[in-house]
Amino acid sequence: MKENMRPESLMMSYGYKPELSEGSIKCPIFQTSTFVFKNAQEGKAFFEVAYGKREQLPNEELGLIYSRINNPDLEILENRLCLWDKAEDCAIFESGMSAITTVLLEFLKPGDLILYSHPVYGGTDHFIHHFLPSLGIHTLGFQAGQSEEEIMALVNDSGHAENLKLVYVESPANPTNTIIDIEACRRVADAFSANHEVVVAVDNTYMGPLWQHPLSLGADLVMYSATKYIGGHSDLIAGAVLGSKALITRVKTLRTFLGNMAGPWTGWLLMRSLETLKLRMEQQQRNAIEVANYLKNHPKVAKVNYLGLLEEGSPEYALYKRHFTGSGAMISFYIKGGEEEAFRFLDHLELIKLAVSLGGTESLAQHPKTMTHAGVSEEHLADLNISDALIRLSIGVEHHEDLINDVAQSLEKV
Ligand SMILES: *Cc1c(COP(=O)(O)O)cnc(C)c1O
Repeated sequence: MKENMRPESLMMSYGYKPELSEGSIKCPIFQTSTFVFKNAQEGKAFFEVAYGKREQLPNEELGLIYSRINNPDLEILENRLCLWDKAEDCAIFESGMSAITTVLLEFLKPGDLILYSHPVYGGTDHFIHHFLPSLGIHTLGFQAGQSEEEIMALVNDSGHAENLKLVYVESPANPTNTIIDIEACRRVADAFSANHEVVVAVDNTYMGPLWQHPLSLGADLVMYSATKYIGGHSDLIAGAVLGSKALITRVKTLRTFLGNMAGPWTGWLLMRSLETLKLRMEQQQRNAIEVANYLKNHPKVAKVNYLGLLEEGSPEYALYKRHFTGSGAMISFYIKGGEEEAFRFLDHLELIKLAVSLGGTESLAQHPKTMTHAGVSEEHLADLNISDALIRLSIGVEHHEDLINDVAQSLEKV
């Protein structure tokens, strides 16, 4: 019966057995480091499977061992997150960055090549540019708008085509909402996989797990900063990776040894957040559509980057229709003028808070060039259309008229 139900109907109950927790309607916080075995034979059996010495038997119930390997708050959360992306398995991490870096470290070895879309999140960009090369890993970037043939040519010209192991995509990209064709990335990966697997991994933080499902578009792994929409209340840091059982087993094994799983308290908070995930995100999207439409017509605004405003008939619009089921709640726009005008706008907002991060219940505004993207070089900023005039908004669950009034009064001061 549950197979036919929508994820939002199952977020309160899926994977949890009240009879194992004194009938408690909610999954308790299992604030414990270790778990008691019934007897030594059982402990031996659990470890045999955990360390891959043998497969789990068909009817074998495996118990818990130690909270770095597994904990009920993480396991139930992982099972629930799988429902949104129709994934076989999920691994939860203590941050989005630990989810991303664990994937990069598991699937790339010295001499390998990573092909990645840019712009990517600042932390990811730093890890790819400054840490992976120190391990002897080759890195190659491509941009939204480059055709499949151009990307293939880039790989062929890199001198490392035979060592391509990972295609890494972030879409829509932060802060300009440029979008990447994941199906085309799958085809590029397949073109170079004659002798080994080429994994396609997508950072879906901006849209997931509601409005884009990369696994259904050909990706092998989907990654999240759960700090953003999944957590949704700007009160925790966490990450997630989802995909096939085989790939997630590799990711979870490295997680066990890096020790970067989330703790039970974070797992519990995320389960609480998942109950309202769809409600929150749909309200945020409705508000964002209103705010984007208001900005689009404002005389002090030069241009608005919002998926809901893509021009019908354009190639981007066609890709948007193929990949996304909604336009999301992230907006960026160019104010007429430069840094002075942008700062004046940011400094006069009253309801919308001036802060980085995104996806929370409250609306936030920030200046990418001097804040989230301060580490990006000048020439790169120009390539990515990140100018002094660019402002990014993460739209929350407030009443849209109050948000628009705040934007209006602040633009008035510019
Ligand atoms: C915030 C963010 C990250 C990093 O996540 P943390 O939870 O802060 O470690 C990665 N990718 C994107 C797109 C993000 O917005």
